[in-house]
Amino acid sequence: MTPETTLILFKPDAVAKNITGQVLARFQAQGFKIRGIKMMLLSDEILAEHYSHIADKPFFPSVRGFMQETPVIALALEGEDVIARVRDLLGPTDSMAAAAGTIRGDFGHKDGDAKMRNVCHASDSVEAAQAELKRFFAEGEIFNY
Ligand code: ADP
Repeated sequence: MTPETTLILFKPDAVAKNITGQVLARFQAQGFKIRGIKMMLLSDEILAEHYSHIADKPFFPSVRGFMQETPVIALALEGEDVIARVRDLLGPTDSMAAAAGTIRGDFGHKDGDAKMRNVCHASDSVEAAQAELKRFFAEGEIFNY
């Protein structure tokens, strides 16, 4: 199989709680390879594009505000079947519905913000990964080695 590359964002809840290293260690324990990593503040424009599928939802303004609370850490991660496997490691969107042992189950908010403050974004398909890697990384920021 050809390895895939996925786009992960460590969201502001993970950055504020200082758990990004612990979460990254879970990805690295799977043998996934870091091809790009950087910290960035997300503009309204990039968030409107990234979250266009929820732009009409009543909670979108809260999500946009949340995603701008701190810089995020963007990660380009490579591995066999990495897109689906990272989604499995994360667990479902709602951290309160996420099983113990999943990243959202272990580190997500367990309160009224459980559906929003859920630690990481990760691409959900090959097509999404391609578009999202381009959105968050410039040419030359993703390495082949
Ligand atoms: P996922 O990130 O699990 O793929 P979605 O693409 O459906 O989930 O939603 C994008 C992000 O919007 C979620 O990760 C979460 O931060 C936020 N979100 C989704 N649903 C809700 C909701 N009902 N209330 C608040 N925030 C939400």
